[in-house]
Amino acid sequence: MRRDSSSRRSRPASEGRRLGAVARDWCDLGVTGTRGGRPNAQTVTQIMTAPRVCGYRANKGELLLLPETGQPVLGQWDPIVTPDQWQAVCATFSPGSLYLHRGSGAPRLTENRRPKPRHLASGFLRCGAQHPDGTVCRGALCAQEGRSKRSPYVYSCRSCRRCSISGPLADEALERLLFPQAQGQVRLPESMRQRWRSGEMGLEEKRKIIASVFTCCIVRRGVKGEHSWDHSRVEPVWRWADRVAPSGVIA
Ligand SMILES: [Zn+2]
Repeated sequence: MRRDSSSRRSRPASEGRRLGAVARDWCDLGVTGTRGGRPNAQTVTQIMTAPRVCGYRANKGELLLLPETGQPVLGQWDPIVTPDQWQAVCATFSPGSLYLHRGSGAPRLTENRRPKPRHLASGFLRCGAQHPDGTVCRGALCAQEGRSKRSPYVYSCRSCRRCSISGPLADEALERLLFPQAQGQVRLPESMRQRWRSGEMGLEEKRKIIASVFTCCIVRRGVKGEHSWDHSRVEPVWRWADRVAPSGVIA
């Protein structure tokens, strides 16, 4: 891995972060692979669990051991962590992933303790901001804390950081798409609408319904200084677009 010397300083890594977030930090720092590749969760895993970080030598996933003592062979380089630290990092990956089993097939143990989504639209919103070349960002909008009473949380694009939308606005927009006042694109059972509205339905069930209806929703960038809620900023990509009749009702 090379590091661009002009890059900005690393911020301290807090505990329990996801590998994807670490990879994004590295990208921001200008870290690239020896062939110029951008770090991703898999390469970060490979680097973190590589025995060489603690000075051990390995070949094709097997530690080299001194035949006389059975102790690991040490390389001729400065280790960046102690063997104990390296073991501790490896222990956060599932069994078998200890430097032998690499990459995306090695889920971290902490992954299972990941909290469930707490917001209705998490994972369904994509960034509609345009890049200078005219292409659309389509980065995932992730929920984060908002700054106002009206928007205690917002969904923001993590890729380009140029698009965010009030959390309650986006959730309400999704709800309006699912249960339009007039005839809309979908017609879900009335009983479903009632359970949704009454508060009987849990977040998980609501999210399942959303997933069954939309592939995702593209969020257009808001207009600066415009404070009224524009629900049309959330543009649905219907899962069954091919089955939506010209009248707008799912056949
Ligand atoms: Zn974006």
